[in-house]
Amino acid sequence: MDDDIINKAYKRISEFIINISMRGIGFNSNNIKKEQAEKFRCNLWGLIFTKLRKKPDINLPFIMGINVIKDGTIELLYNPYMIMGLSDSDLLYVFEHEGLHILNKHISRLLRILENELDEEKIEEKKALFGISADCAINSQANLPKSIWCYDKEYTLCHPENFGFNEKMNTEFYYLQFLKQKQLDKNEQQKQSNKKNEQQKQPDKNEQQKQSNKKNEQQKQQSDKKK
Ligand SMILES: [Zn+2]
Repeated sequence: MDDDIINKAYKRISEFIINISMRGIGFNSNNIKKEQAEKFRCNLWGLIFTKLRKKPDINLPFIMGINVIKDGTIELLYNPYMIMGLSDSDLLYVFEHEGLHILNKHISRLLRILENELDEEKIEEKKALFGISADCAINSQANLPKSIWCYDKEYTLCHPENFGFNEKMNTEFYYLQFLKQKQLDKNEQQKQSNKKNEQQKQPDKNEQQKQSNKKNEQQKQQSDKKK
């Protein structure tokens, strides 16, 4: 079953890439609008996608992604099941999205941000934030749709407006916005936790006061007795 779908998805991806490398010729599918195919009337797209190593991964949690392996080769990862659930038009949007990650050099821009970071946890956090930021920049700048459909499930694409940010800014802009938002969230969390600690301390204080009153009372009683 897996082999069958992997073969089908590979065939579909390859045919798409051939179409893209032929400057949009062959996009005569019913659901691809002419303007959408026109975007690919440039050899550059074909050059990008033919150079990538295409790698199916049935466990990939998203449709497609760009990955760099240790020797510097860029891989185009894809989930064969999800590929087969997309319309031609939505598959072309996915190609455009991934191609723009490469054209915008998002990988080297991310590496620049991670250059001085040694903490593994922070590296993962920054990677995730940069990924969402790059997606916001691409989807907004390329006017990609708000969502696409895979089988009967709707997938919302990352758009700046989903996070309350302005449209058509660059990746680093969104990255800084997310960092700021994160810091604000952290401050708010700290505030809440300080408040909680303070409230927890309060009964202690009351208890201490009670104990000390008791002690005073006892001492008073004792001294009264002595008298
Ligand atoms: Zn992306």
